[in-house]
Amino acid sequence: MSDLRFKSVEVASARKPVKVDTPKERVNKYYGCQVFNRQKMFEYLPKDTYEALVDAIDNKKPLSRKLADSVAQGMKQWAIESGARHYTHWFHPLTDGTAEKHDAFVEHDGKGGMLEAFTGKLLVQQEPDASSFPNGGIRNTFEARGYSAWDISSPAFIIDGTLCIPTIFISYTGESLDYKTPLLKALNAVDKAATRVARYFDPEVKHVSSYLGWEQEYFLVDEALYAARPDLVMTGRTLMGHESAKNQQLEDHYFGSIPSRVEAFMLDLEIECHKLGIPAKTRHNEVAPNQFELAPVFEETNLANDHNLLLMSLMAEVARRHNFRVLLHEKPFAGINGSGKHNNWSLGTDKGVLLFAPGKTPERNLQFVAFVANVMAAVHKHNALMKATIISATNQHRLGANEAPPAIISMFLGSQLSRILDEIDREETDEIMLEGKEKVKLEISQIPELRIDNTDRNRTSPFAFTGNRFEYRAVGSSANCAAAMIALNAAVADQLNQFADAVDAAVAAGEAQDTAILNEVKKLIRASRAIHFDGNGYSDEWKEEAARRGLDVETSAPLMYDAYQRPDTIEMFKRTGVFTQKELEARNEVKWEMYSKKIQIEARVLGDLAINHIIPAATRYQSLLLDNVYKIKQLFKGDKADKIARQDMLSIEEIADNMAAIKSNVELMVNARRKANHMPDERSKAIAYHDDVFPLMEKIRKSIDDLELMVDNEIWPLPKYRELLFIR
Ligand code: ADP
Ligand code: MG
Repeated sequence: MSDLRFKSVEVASARKPVKVDTPKERVNKYYGCQVFNRQKMFEYLPKDTYEALVDAIDNKKPLSRKLADSVAQGMKQWAIESGARHYTHWFHPLTDGTAEKHDAFVEHDGKGGMLEAFTGKLLVQQEPDASSFPNGGIRNTFEARGYSAWDISSPAFIIDGTLCIPTIFISYTGESLDYKTPLLKALNAVDKAATRVARYFDPEVKHVSSYLGWEQEYFLVDEALYAARPDLVMTGRTLMGHESAKNQQLEDHYFGSIPSRVEAFMLDLEIECHKLGIPAKTRHNEVAPNQFELAPVFEETNLANDHNLLLMSLMAEVARRHNFRVLLHEKPFAGINGSGKHNNWSLGTDKGVLLFAPGKTPERNLQFVAFVANVMAAVHKHNALMKATIISATNQHRLGANEAPPAIISMFLGSQLSRILDEIDREETDEIMLEGKEKVKLEISQIPELRIDNTDRNRTSPFAFTGNRFEYRAVGSSANCAAAMIALNAAVADQLNQFADAVDAAVAAGEAQDTAILNEVKKLIRASRAIHFDGNGYSDEWKEEAARRGLDVETSAPLMYDAYQRPDTIEMFKRTGVFTQKELEARNEVKWEMYSKKIQIEARVLGDLAINHIIPAATRYQSLLLDNVYKIKQLFKGDKADKIARQDMLSIEEIADNMAAIKSNVELMVNARRKANHMPDERSKAIAYHDDVFPLMEKIRKSIDDLELMVDNEIWPLPKYRELLFIR
């Protein structure tokens, strides 16, 4: 084992960047070449089919069977001409990641030959055997059918010779078994509700889209080192490892120059992204050593999310070509920054107006303030739910750790926006002060031009206003963004509907529309004050203050999921048509089950490593020391012998103590697991894993990390942090 380590270090440090085949053409020539986008649709579909399909996509109409047949023909032709031999329905089950089942484009022609078959039926409905996807008990096993159908708002694409058709995945009885279905429902709800409100300001508005720009953080590890760490291979994080002498304290990695081997990987990845129509734009080093980030240009939320899921699988594949492994885990290494996936989110009308951006006219600004106040109110009411959307067995390590948002959802608004909202709230004044400006009149229908300073950032806030959008930073790097986007868009939709109901009622009672809007905005600002916090989210005072304000301060992941089943959550999802109570219950079962399973796997791997790798290594080193002491005692006598052997004797004892602690804690952990596995339901099982199993894992780790500092480096069986994090 120790040989392997040294060999792998050598191999890695000797490695040269892999040559990347860069396309000769400019990016606009190959951008989207693997996507059945509008240009391809135009080229491959009959004119009337093209027009009907575009109309269905733009106006959210269902795809008729007749239309589907014609689309399928063109799609097949394009796919086969582009070298595809298989097709698959590509969907997002309740695990992280995506699922696919490939079928070849072949069917018997009835004359002993084969023909390339692909019909509209395959776009409209498919029935994969769904029994082995997590479903929280919705589907009885004998009723193991799930339906999938093309989500026409997301174009088909080709990867590795397979035509991938993005699909929704629902049960026989209509419940969603995936992330995409409820996401589409939430986006539809926010479109309707936000359009209703936006029409107060511009009656011509027909649709409001939700936009998402994610920032994907990740680590790269040399593949030889990765292979020598069973914990990374099995769980995606290091379950042990003492921090290295140097880590991120010099802050020399962030925005530093990108190592050439990593740059080759990034270039390769970007080219692949662009071929698939993923608008990858920004790349840079992150704070931790070997940590990096990729961000695209934002897109409509559903497409952006598809692209993020696609990116995560692309990264894994491209990394292998470069002899790297990509780590998407939220906390692969203790003691340094973990990885998140900031979700930049906004709403915009079909007239091109971003609703969270202050504008130049008083109407625009009243609209801006109204939308911001509604987001505040929605996030305030549903702060516990927002937290439940991002928590997982993996992200729990990151939240509340020193670089990540705390496990409390609050909103950062910045000094200028806070000031404006305060002024609006303060009924007695009709004037507001803008920083560095003169006093400007605030009349009921006239909010002066706002200049929002978006450099005013607060990295400790989980949900921050950043000039024309909100940035939800608590989302984990390995997560499907849909979980957060479903709840956020649904909650905001529900809130906007309530707002519009109140405004409409006031107008019906004879109030002027602008006055009615401003009055409702005032109420919202007042009612949701508690969510607004611009201070240091890492401080202990904030934890106490947040509890006093009535914000959710739960820190146990399995208990956070309860927020999905609160009556107000159930009602909100029901009103917006996003989830039924049955779906919410089933999905929570899946969440608890996934939580327990992940900790279970980690605990098993840790137990194995502790007993089969660490204890034997420590024993070997201890026996070397014992041997040495024995020889000292042969050569020297009395006090002199004791003096010479003293350090070794102390080490022998310390090693013995740590080994004893490891052994007894592993035994306790096995028993705790056994007990947890016998819990009567998924929720109590997850709680037991969190409360009883997990703390023992931490104790075992502590003893192992202590041993790492003592045991001869030659004997230590695993690559250390200094290798995993600094070899590139
Ligand atoms: P940061 O300074 O926060 O790290 P980045 O430039 O890395 O910013 O990422 C910002 C992300 O936000 C990008 O994906 C960008 O396209 C996206 N973004 C910008 N404006 C909007 C908007 N109005 N709505 C949604 N996302 C946006
Ligand atoms: Mg950001």
